[in-house]
Amino acid sequence: MILEQCSLCPRHCGVRREPSQGKGFCQMGIHPMVARAALHFWEEPCISGTKGSGTVFFTGCTLGCVFCQNYEISTRRAVGKELTIPELADVFQRLIEQGAHNINLVSPTQFALPIAQALRLRPVPVPVVYNSSGYETQETLQMLEGLVDVYLPDLKYVTPHIAGRYSGAPDYPEYAQKAILEMLRQTGPAQFDEQGILVKGTMVRHLILPGNTRESIAVLEWLRDNLPSGVPVSLMAQYVPCGKAAQFPEINRSITVREFEKVEHCLMETGLDGFVQERSSAQKGYIPPFDLQGLK
Ligand code: SF4
Repeated sequence: MILEQCSLCPRHCGVRREPSQGKGFCQMGIHPMVARAALHFWEEPCISGTKGSGTVFFTGCTLGCVFCQNYEISTRRAVGKELTIPELADVFQRLIEQGAHNINLVSPTQFALPIAQALRLRPVPVPVVYNSSGYETQETLQMLEGLVDVYLPDLKYVTPHIAGRYSGAPDYPEYAQKAILEMLRQTGPAQFDEQGILVKGTMVRHLILPGNTRESIAVLEWLRDNLPSGVPVSLMAQYVPCGKAAQFPEINRSITVREFEKVEHCLMETGLDGFVQERSSAQKGYIPPFDLQGLK
């Protein structure tokens, strides 16, 4: 497979992507490249459940966050195994055989096309979770309609210059906000099974950055003002400086108790249906090893 003019994400690079080579922002060829495929227990309880989420970490990323905890695979692209579409379908199958509650596609955008082909080739009997930065185009999301059961987008920022500084994408807010509305249109309200697993719906995540509580509050206010009631929101407090964060002194630390409580208080005030991931999980030990597990 060759993609002549890639426009899968808001970068709209328009470059040719060959099976193993691509010269767009993400630098990825069109064959899916995966760094790890394993059961993961550190997502929200409605995603990980008791048996684990069948998590597939894709190499490369369309965003470029300076603090990315998956920096080794997202930006350095240091680990990854290139797969064919049937091989990707096999990876999904093996996770289901291990008892995964769902197939959780992490940083999938640059491979949205082969992912859709793998899911059409061999539909999976568990929910498909599209775990994305939120930096998505309407066209790519519409191409996924009917294949994805659960969208798990971030809303990282609502202010363009902050999105530009930390993720190299000043247009992130406008794309992510429209993307979340399109995801909600596709999935409708959240539905949980008898074990409390999210089987259909959209859950929005927001990671609190140190020194940026005002931005976090603006994000929560946007969600309050623009989403129908009942949409689950996951507030994440487990930030640890990774990647190039040392070059940005204001975010080169964990968040303080005071920062966390300020944003948590705002979450309560907004009346959003919030889930809070505690500060106690702010350790690098919670970042999975990218060692091609599940791919050898
Ligand atoms: S998926 Fe990659 S090559 Fe395609 S538009 Fe986005 S960054 Fe560019």
